[in-house]
Amino acid sequence: AATPPAQGPAAAGQARQRVLDDLPTFVEQLLAQAGANGIHVAHVTSAQDANRRIIHILREAGSTEILRNHALILDEIGVDRAAAANAIRITRLHAGDHIVELAGERGSHPLWPAAHLPAEAISATLQAKMRVPATVDPDLLASTLRMPLRRTLLRTHTAIVGLNFAVAADGALVTLDADGHNASLIALAQHLICVLSVEQIVADSADLDLLIAAFARGAWGRALPSYITQIDRPAPSGGDGPRRVHLILVDNGRSRILTAGFGEALRCIHCGACHNVCPLFQQVGAAGYGPAPYSGPIAGVIHPILLRPGLAADAAFLCSACTACGPVCPVGIDLPRLLQAQRQRQRVWHRRGRLAFWLWQRLLPHPWLFFPVLRLAGRRWRRP
Ligand code: SF4
Repeated sequence: AATPPAQGPAAAGQARQRVLDDLPTFVEQLLAQAGANGIHVAHVTSAQDANRRIIHILREAGSTEILRNHALILDEIGVDRAAAANAIRITRLHAGDHIVELAGERGSHPLWPAAHLPAEAISATLQAKMRVPATVDPDLLASTLRMPLRRTLLRTHTAIVGLNFAVAADGALVTLDADGHNASLIALAQHLICVLSVEQIVADSADLDLLIAAFARGAWGRALPSYITQIDRPAPSGGDGPRRVHLILVDNGRSRILTAGFGEALRCIHCGACHNVCPLFQQVGAAGYGPAPYSGPIAGVIHPILLRPGLAADAAFLCSACTACGPVCPVGIDLPRLLQAQRQRQRVWHRRGRLAFWLWQRLLPHPWLFFPVLRLAGRRWRRP
């Protein structure tokens, strides 16, 4: 009998791996297809390049006020800081994002960034920042936030959106969410900048269906997301939707993750399922995994490579080796194995660090030797 097609995490994992195995080809295909659809495309290697491109587009459009969605890739590249540095006001439309920003905190869970804040803390933040009556009623808290955000939504015509997926075969750009904020942003924007990390490219619409189902299962335990928003091309004159659409594909360290042998981690679709079962994440939240944007077991694998050395060296050790994260991953990432491999890699780095410190102590009293060695080391360890 013929072997039945793979289902569930195995099939979704294969869909992700198909792209990772030949990433440059899929990047080229997506850029060509989206470009043919009338979307302005760019492929950048770093967060700085992505922000330069975004600021350039905003300046050209004369935009001084923009809205953004909830998207980890936007946190990763630090688009809020870049906008502020260029006197561009950026508002986060997602209520959870808006709350953590007002509270001066970082988001914790990939889907519910304010999940770590109790209602009392949210109420206190809103009272302090928005001068509203004290309440812990969730409906009142939500409507307190909603009104000013809606006013901003109605007067702002430029939006920046981190995508969930983009389809190489036809150039479709896709966002998923449970509250509809992506759909509102995209429907009302005249000018839309979409940002996608390269590994989230999907080969074709069949794989897209698989991965949308995988995301919904991991994120909300449902068959489908409440909102799937797809952009194929700019809206025609007189039609609804953005007239000008940009797509910026960002690498920002993905190639390093691939070459370090942790490519399987790039299958991650950031659904948050592993966070929900991780006893360490439940206790410490996002704080222990190094600076934003990622958290939970997947951050333990990718942060030590993605972030500057030392910033997240201990992230992989925030693990009790309970292995609960493995079975829940909807794209079949073997997180327990990758975390163990990352811990092993960090031990090697720690040994190298101790050796470097010993050497540094001995070289410091001899500047004539210290600086040439430092220059040599800099050349050796400087990132591409
Ligand atoms: S590693 Fe798997 S379970 Fe965790 S966020 Fe990524 S896709 Fe979801």
